[in-house]
Amino acid sequence: MRTPSLLWVGDGVVMERLPHFGSQPGLGRQTDRESTQDKESQDVQTFQNNDIFRILASGKRGLQKLPFSRALKIAATCPGSDFRLSCTMRTLVALLPLLLIPHTEGSGHWTYPDNEWSEQYPTCAGKSQSPINIETENVLENRTLGTLELTGYGLQDGEFLLINNGHSIQLSLPSSMHIIRGLPQVYTAAQLHFHWGGKTAESHGSEHLINGVQFDSEMHIVHYNSEKYGSFDEAQTEPEGLSVLTVLIQAKKGQDNIYYEKIFSHLSEIQNVGENVTLNSIDVEHLLPHDSSRFFRYFGSLTTPPCTQNVIWTVLVNPATISTAQLEKLQNSVLNSNNQILQNNFREVKPLNQRRVEANFSPKGKGKESRLWSRFLPKPQVQGSQEA
Ligand SMILES: [Zn+2]
Repeated sequence: MRTPSLLWVGDGVVMERLPHFGSQPGLGRQTDRESTQDKESQDVQTFQNNDIFRILASGKRGLQKLPFSRALKIAATCPGSDFRLSCTMRTLVALLPLLLIPHTEGSGHWTYPDNEWSEQYPTCAGKSQSPINIETENVLENRTLGTLELTGYGLQDGEFLLINNGHSIQLSLPSSMHIIRGLPQVYTAAQLHFHWGGKTAESHGSEHLINGVQFDSEMHIVHYNSEKYGSFDEAQTEPEGLSVLTVLIQAKKGQDNIYYEKIFSHLSEIQNVGENVTLNSIDVEHLLPHDSSRFFRYFGSLTTPPCTQNVIWTVLVNPATISTAQLEKLQNSVLNSNNQILQNNFREVKPLNQRRVEANFSPKGKGKESRLWSRFLPKPQVQGSQEA
């Protein structure tokens, strides 16, 4: 079995540089043979404009051939990588067996549910894991949390990559999007993605629960601490490195949400793992609920491997609303790496242990905040039990 040539590994995406037929053979600073073996120089691996890449994506070969410019956009799904291998080689080590044994579906790759994640990613068994069930009775009011101030969240033109990474649909976000207030430091956006259900007719799919109730879907807007760290790559393993802004989503019969439709209308173009499409504008502000002033706050982890426990979570109290037709489209449009419909891509809630959940409002008061969840919550669907 040959050794793959240059590789790039993002979140579930593996790319291979195809043999070069141009007039400049041996591009990059290493030969292909050395490239996957020489760990010393992994951070200086470079690529050229006329390189062509092929997405291997979870053992499924030959999905697409991409010019460098297109591959560069995929690299943006692993922000901060600067299209070098710095962001990738750690993952590559884990995925190499997969690449050398083509078409071994699922091997070296995690799937839902999360029962076996900790065998390969020990942190997934940690004491500060996400998601959690937020029991509003036990939430502590902390007015010093303040309110969120978001910049760059409005309508932006540009090129934004939407990709099926095998675990979700993920949209790359520009580095001009920040949370500048409401967190201990400034955080810069990297990407957003969704979690959903759909395996049964009544299946909701949010990751966080409120008082045991699961919502239809959940959107995660992932940020990194740009005040402390130079890139997403650097921040993703460091203390307070990441912050996720969470929007719970409920579906209602009626009209489509036109802002979510700008994303969902492309789902048929990214049916297979690794497929991607470029959006010419984004408007994340309008993906948020009308009132995004109230939130829950706790410290936790990534809800996917490697489950790193360095995430400051902000869960907006008010949900966003999409139509039931849009929810069904989200639940039935894209495939996972086993070529099955990607459904129920949410993790079961984890014990709170010694952590506490705070709110920037009074969760027990008699004001409108206290009635929020009883008003908007969908029909209860209790997901297991939750120790606090
Ligand atoms: Zn997520």
